[in-house]
Amino acid sequence: MPALKADLHCHSTASDGTLPPEQLAARAKANGVALWSLTDHDVLDGQRRAAAAAAACGLDYLCGVEVSVSFAGQTVHIVGLGIDPDNDALTAGLADTRAGRDRRAREMSDGLAAAGFEGGYDGACALAGNPQMVTRTHFARWLVVQGVCADTHEVFRRFLVRGKPGYVPQQWATLHDAVAWIRGAGGVAVIAHPARYRYSASEEWALFEAFAGYGGRGVEVLTPSHTTAEAEKYAGLAREFALLASCGSDFHSPGESRVELGSLPPLPAGLTPVWAELHARVRRA
Ligand code: AMP
Ligand code: MN
Ligand code: MN
Ligand code: MN
Repeated sequence: MPALKADLHCHSTASDGTLPPEQLAARAKANGVALWSLTDHDVLDGQRRAAAAAAACGLDYLCGVEVSVSFAGQTVHIVGLGIDPDNDALTAGLADTRAGRDRRAREMSDGLAAAGFEGGYDGACALAGNPQMVTRTHFARWLVVQGVCADTHEVFRRFLVRGKPGYVPQQWATLHDAVAWIRGAGGVAVIAHPARYRYSASEEWALFEAFAGYGGRGVEVLTPSHTTAEAEKYAGLAREFALLASCGSDFHSPGESRVELGSLPPLPAGLTPVWAELHARVRRA
Protein backbone atom coordinates (compact mmCIF):
# COMPACT_ATOMS: atom_id res chain seq x y z
CA MET A 1 0.00 0.00 0.00
CA PRO A 2 1.73 3.23 -1.06
CA ALA A 3 1.97 6.00 1.53
CA LEU A 4 -0.81 8.49 1.00
CA LYS A 5 -1.18 11.74 2.84
CA ALA A 6 -4.71 11.59 4.13
CA ASP A 7 -6.59 13.78 6.60
CA LEU A 8 -9.93 12.16 7.36
CA HIS A 9 -11.19 14.22 10.29
CA CYS A 10 -11.84 17.97 10.55
CA HIS A 11 -14.58 20.53 11.14
CA SER A 12 -16.06 23.51 9.29
CA THR A 13 -18.45 26.33 10.17
CA ALA A 14 -21.27 23.82 9.56
CA SER A 15 -20.44 22.48 13.06
CA ASP A 16 -17.76 23.80 15.44
CA GLY A 17 -14.93 24.76 13.07
CA THR A 18 -14.21 28.39 12.22
CA LEU A 19 -13.34 27.98 8.52
CA PRO A 20 -15.83 27.35 5.70
CA PRO A 21 -15.39 24.17 3.60
CA GLU A 22 -13.70 26.07 0.74
CA GLN A 23 -10.96 27.44 3.01
CA LEU A 24 -10.42 24.00 4.54
CA ALA A 25 -10.03 22.42 1.10
CA ALA A 26 -7.49 25.07 0.08
CA ARG A 27 -5.62 24.62 3.36
CA ALA A 28 -5.55 20.83 2.99
CA LYS A 29 -4.24 21.17 -0.56
CA ALA A 30 -1.60 23.71 0.48
CA ASN A 31 -0.46 21.32 3.22
CA GLY A 32 0.05 18.47 0.77
CA VAL A 33 -3.03 16.38 1.57
CA ALA A 34 -4.00 13.94 -1.20
CA LEU A 35 -7.18 12.47 0.32
CA TRP A 36 -9.42 14.64 2.48
CA SER A 37 -12.67 14.32 4.40
CA LEU A 38 -14.72 16.96 6.19
CA THR A 39 -16.35 15.29 9.20
CA ASP A 40 -18.60 17.83 10.87
CA HIS A 41 -20.40 16.85 14.07
CA ASP A 42 -23.92 15.48 13.46
CA VAL A 43 -24.51 17.42 10.24
CA LEU A 44 -24.00 17.03 6.48
CA ASP A 45 -24.60 20.65 5.46
CA GLY A 46 -20.97 21.25 4.46
CA GLN A 47 -20.57 18.14 2.29
CA ARG A 48 -21.67 19.49 -1.06
CA ARG A 49 -19.43 22.55 -0.74
CA ALA A 50 -16.49 20.48 0.54
CA ALA A 51 -16.74 18.01 -2.34
CA ALA A 52 -16.98 20.82 -4.91
CA ALA A 53 -14.06 22.72 -3.37
CA ALA A 54 -11.97 19.54 -3.22
CA ALA A 55 -12.62 18.85 -6.90
CA ALA A 56 -11.80 22.46 -7.81
CA CYS A 57 -8.41 22.36 -6.12
CA GLY A 58 -7.42 18.82 -7.10
CA LEU A 59 -8.04 16.89 -3.89
CA ASP A 60 -9.59 13.43 -3.69
CA TYR A 61 -12.53 13.57 -1.31
CA LEU A 62 -14.59 11.27 0.93
CA CYS A 63 -17.89 12.56 2.29
CA GLY A 64 -17.77 12.34 6.07
CA VAL A 65 -19.47 12.95 9.39
CA GLU A 66 -18.69 12.59 13.11
CA VAL A 67 -21.70 11.24 15.00
CA SER A 68 -22.21 11.93 18.72
CA VAL A 69 -23.03 8.67 20.52
CA SER A 70 -23.79 7.73 24.13
CA PHE A 71 -22.25 4.43 25.23
CA ALA A 72 -21.80 3.09 28.78
CA GLY A 73 -22.39 6.47 30.36
CA GLN A 74 -20.01 8.47 28.18
CA THR A 75 -19.99 10.31 24.88
CA VAL A 76 -18.19 8.51 22.06
CA HIS A 77 -17.63 9.92 18.59
CA ILE A 78 -18.09 7.69 15.55
CA VAL A 79 -16.73 8.98 12.26
CA GLY A 80 -18.44 7.88 9.05
CA LEU A 81 -16.33 7.97 5.88
CA GLY A 82 -17.47 7.51 2.29
CA ILE A 83 -21.11 8.14 3.15
CA ASP A 84 -23.76 9.25 0.68
CA PRO A 85 -24.67 12.74 2.00
CA ASP A 86 -28.15 12.44 0.49
CA ASN A 87 -29.03 9.22 2.32
CA ASP A 88 -32.44 9.67 3.99
CA ALA A 89 -31.95 7.48 7.09
CA LEU A 90 -28.58 9.06 7.89
CA THR A 91 -29.96 12.57 7.36
CA ALA A 92 -32.97 11.84 9.59
CA GLY A 93 -30.86 10.16 12.26
CA LEU A 94 -28.50 13.13 12.43
CA ALA A 95 -31.45 15.54 12.66
CA ASP A 96 -32.72 13.56 15.67
CA THR A 97 -29.24 13.60 17.19
CA ARG A 98 -29.06 17.41 16.84
CA ALA A 99 -32.58 17.98 18.15
CA GLY A 100 -31.70 18.25 21.83
CA ARG A 101 -28.87 20.73 21.35
CA ASP A 102 -30.88 23.93 21.70
CA ARG A 103 -32.39 22.91 25.04
CA ARG A 104 -28.97 21.77 26.23
CA ALA A 105 -27.41 25.07 25.19
CA ARG A 106 -30.04 26.94 27.23
CA GLU A 107 -29.32 24.75 30.26
CA MET A 108 -25.57 25.24 29.82
CA SER A 109 -26.22 28.98 29.71
CA ASP A 110 -28.26 28.76 32.93
CA GLY A 111 -25.43 26.88 34.63
CA LEU A 112 -22.86 29.45 33.57
CA ALA A 113 -25.16 32.31 34.63
CA ALA A 114 -25.46 30.73 38.09
CA ALA A 115 -21.66 30.77 38.21
CA GLY A 116 -21.68 34.50 37.39
CA PHE A 117 -21.41 34.55 33.60
CA GLU A 118 -24.60 35.90 32.02
CA GLY A 119 -25.53 35.82 28.35
CA GLY A 120 -23.97 32.52 27.28
CA TYR A 121 -26.84 31.32 25.11
CA ASP A 122 -26.91 34.45 22.96
CA GLY A 123 -23.12 34.62 22.99
CA ALA A 124 -22.65 31.03 21.84
CA CYS A 125 -25.42 31.29 19.21
CA ALA A 126 -23.79 34.41 17.76
CA LEU A 127 -20.57 32.45 17.26
CA ALA A 128 -22.24 29.35 15.78
CA GLY A 129 -22.29 29.09 11.99
CA ASN A 130 -25.25 26.72 12.16
CA PRO A 131 -28.10 27.47 14.62
CA GLN A 132 -28.79 23.72 14.97
CA MET A 133 -25.21 23.07 16.05
CA VAL A 134 -24.51 25.13 19.14
CA THR A 135 -21.74 23.13 20.80
CA ARG A 136 -19.58 23.35 23.89
CA THR A 137 -16.87 24.72 21.59
CA HIS A 138 -18.99 27.82 20.90
CA PHE A 139 -19.50 28.40 24.64
CA ALA A 140 -15.74 27.97 25.09
CA ARG A 141 -15.00 30.59 22.42
CA TRP A 142 -17.56 32.94 23.96
CA LEU A 143 -15.87 32.73 27.39
CA VAL A 144 -12.50 33.42 25.74
CA VAL A 145 -13.94 36.47 23.95
CA GLN A 146 -15.36 37.60 27.32
CA GLY A 147 -11.84 37.47 28.74
CA VAL A 148 -12.80 34.86 31.33
CA CYS A 149 -10.22 32.34 30.12
CA ALA A 150 -7.06 32.56 28.04
CA ASP A 151 -7.99 29.74 25.64
CA THR A 152 -10.70 27.19 24.95
CA HIS A 153 -8.81 24.38 26.67
CA GLU A 154 -8.90 26.35 29.92
CA VAL A 155 -12.65 26.93 29.48
CA PHE A 156 -13.26 23.20 29.08
CA ARG A 157 -11.23 22.40 32.19
CA ARG A 158 -12.92 25.01 34.35
CA PHE A 159 -16.48 25.11 33.01
CA LEU A 160 -17.51 22.55 30.42
CA VAL A 161 -16.62 19.06 31.66
CA ARG A 162 -18.55 16.84 34.05
CA GLY A 163 -18.91 18.41 37.48
CA LYS A 164 -18.37 21.96 36.18
CA PRO A 165 -21.04 24.71 36.03
CA GLY A 166 -21.61 24.70 32.26
CA TYR A 167 -21.75 20.93 31.86
CA VAL A 168 -25.10 19.39 30.90
CA PRO A 169 -25.24 15.64 30.19
CA GLN A 170 -26.84 14.75 26.90
CA GLN A 171 -28.35 11.60 25.42
CA TRP A 172 -26.90 11.23 21.92
CA ALA A 173 -27.45 8.49 19.32
CA THR A 174 -26.95 4.83 20.25
CA LEU A 175 -23.80 3.11 19.01
CA HIS A 176 -25.99 0.66 17.14
CA ASP A 177 -27.89 3.38 15.29
CA ALA A 178 -24.82 5.46 14.43
CA VAL A 179 -23.07 2.45 12.87
CA ALA A 180 -26.25 1.41 11.08
CA TRP A 181 -26.83 4.89 9.62
CA ILE A 182 -23.25 5.10 8.35
CA ARG A 183 -23.29 1.59 6.86
CA GLY A 184 -26.72 2.19 5.35
CA ALA A 185 -25.32 5.30 3.64
CA GLY A 186 -22.54 3.20 2.07
CA GLY A 187 -19.84 4.37 4.46
CA VAL A 188 -17.31 2.88 6.84
CA ALA A 189 -17.77 3.55 10.58
CA VAL A 190 -14.65 4.47 12.56
CA ILE A 191 -14.16 4.92 16.33
CA ALA A 192 -12.78 8.47 16.71
CA HIS A 193 -9.89 9.30 19.08
CA PRO A 194 -10.40 6.25 21.36
CA ALA A 195 -7.86 7.34 23.98
CA ARG A 196 -10.03 10.36 24.83
CA TYR A 197 -12.69 8.24 26.54
CA ARG A 198 -12.42 7.54 30.25
CA TYR A 199 -13.43 3.89 30.10
CA SER A 200 -12.09 1.06 32.22
CA ALA A 201 -10.27 -1.64 30.26
CA SER A 202 -13.37 -3.85 30.30
CA GLU A 203 -15.66 -1.00 29.18
CA GLU A 204 -13.28 -0.18 26.35
CA TRP A 205 -13.22 -3.81 25.29
CA ALA A 206 -17.03 -3.80 25.36
CA LEU A 207 -17.04 -0.71 23.12
CA PHE A 208 -14.79 -2.36 20.54
CA GLU A 209 -16.75 -5.63 20.68
CA ALA A 210 -20.11 -3.94 20.31
CA PHE A 211 -18.80 -1.65 17.55
CA ALA A 212 -17.33 -4.55 15.55
CA GLY A 213 -20.46 -6.63 16.21
CA TYR A 214 -22.64 -3.90 14.67
CA GLY A 215 -20.42 -3.81 11.59
CA GLY A 216 -18.09 -0.96 12.55
CA ARG A 217 -14.90 -1.30 10.51
CA GLY A 218 -12.27 1.20 11.59
CA VAL A 219 -10.46 2.99 14.38
CA GLU A 220 -8.49 6.22 14.45
CA VAL A 221 -4.92 5.30 15.23
CA LEU A 222 -3.36 8.67 14.43
CA THR A 223 -5.04 11.71 15.95
CA PRO A 224 -3.62 14.62 17.95
CA SER A 225 -5.56 13.17 20.91
CA HIS A 226 -3.10 10.24 21.01
CA THR A 227 0.39 10.01 22.43
CA THR A 228 2.86 7.77 20.58
CA ALA A 229 2.16 5.02 23.12
CA GLU A 230 -1.59 5.40 22.63
CA ALA A 231 -1.20 5.22 18.84
CA GLU A 232 0.68 1.94 19.33
CA LYS A 233 -1.99 0.65 21.69
CA TYR A 234 -4.78 1.34 19.18
CA ALA A 235 -2.69 -0.05 16.33
CA GLY A 236 -2.64 -3.25 18.42
CA LEU A 237 -6.41 -3.15 18.98
CA ALA A 238 -6.93 -2.54 15.25
CA ARG A 239 -5.01 -5.75 14.53
CA GLU A 240 -6.83 -7.66 17.28
CA PHE A 241 -10.29 -6.66 16.04
CA ALA A 242 -9.27 -6.71 12.34
CA LEU A 243 -10.19 -3.03 12.04
CA LEU A 244 -9.01 -0.61 9.36
CA ALA A 245 -6.78 2.23 10.53
CA SER A 246 -7.75 5.87 10.07
CA CYS A 247 -5.98 9.16 10.66
CA GLY A 248 -7.08 12.75 10.99
CA SER A 249 -6.02 16.07 12.46
CA ASP A 250 -9.43 16.89 14.02
CA PHE A 251 -8.64 20.43 12.88
CA HIS A 252 -11.15 23.04 14.09
CA SER A 253 -9.51 26.44 13.80
CA PRO A 254 -6.17 28.14 13.13
CA GLY A 255 -4.61 29.17 16.40
CA GLU A 256 -6.95 26.95 18.40
CA SER A 257 -6.20 23.47 17.10
CA ARG A 258 -2.84 22.22 18.26
CA VAL A 259 -2.22 20.30 15.06
CA GLU A 260 -2.47 21.80 11.58
CA LEU A 261 -4.77 20.32 8.95
CA GLY A 262 -2.89 17.57 7.12
CA SER A 263 0.11 17.40 9.42
CA LEU A 264 -0.06 13.80 10.68
CA PRO A 265 2.76 11.25 10.18
CA PRO A 266 2.14 8.13 8.05
CA LEU A 267 0.16 5.28 9.61
CA PRO A 268 2.25 2.60 11.38
CA ALA A 269 3.30 -0.30 9.16
CA GLY A 270 1.26 -3.48 9.17
CA LEU A 271 -2.13 -1.78 9.34
CA THR A 272 -4.68 -1.64 6.56
CA PRO A 273 -5.65 2.01 5.97
CA VAL A 274 -9.33 2.75 5.91
CA TRP A 275 -9.14 4.04 2.31
CA ALA A 276 -8.15 0.55 1.12
CA GLU A 277 -11.86 -0.32 1.34
CA LEU A 278 -13.18 3.02 0.16
CA HIS A 279 -11.86 3.25 -3.42
CA ALA A 280 -15.34 3.17 -4.87
CA ARG A 281 -16.49 5.95 -2.53
CA VAL A 282 -13.68 8.41 -3.27
CA ARG A 283 -14.72 11.43 -5.33
CA ARG A 284 -11.68 11.77 -7.59
CA ALA A 285 -10.42 15.24 -8.35
P1 AMP B 1 -20.37 18.98 22.21
O1 AMP B 1 -20.66 18.06 21.05
O2 AMP B 1 -21.26 20.19 22.23
O3 AMP B 1 -20.34 18.25 23.53
O4 AMP B 1 -18.90 19.57 21.97
C1 AMP B 1 -17.85 18.69 21.80
C2 AMP B 1 -16.66 19.42 21.19
O5 AMP B 1 -15.98 20.14 22.18
C3 AMP B 1 -15.63 18.46 20.64
O6 AMP B 1 -15.94 18.11 19.34
C4 AMP B 1 -14.37 19.29 20.68
O7 AMP B 1 -14.29 20.10 19.52
C5 AMP B 1 -14.59 20.18 21.86
N1 AMP B 1 -13.85 19.73 23.06
C6 AMP B 1 -14.17 18.72 23.88
N2 AMP B 1 -13.28 18.64 24.90
C7 AMP B 1 -12.38 19.64 24.70
C8 AMP B 1 -11.22 20.12 25.40
N3 AMP B 1 -10.81 19.54 26.54
N4 AMP B 1 -10.56 21.19 24.90
C9 AMP B 1 -10.98 21.80 23.77
N5 AMP B 1 -12.07 21.40 23.07
C10 AMP B 1 -12.74 20.35 23.52
MN1 MN C 1 -15.51 19.57 17.75
MN1 MN D 1 -14.54 14.09 18.38
MN1 MN E 1 -13.78 15.94 15.61
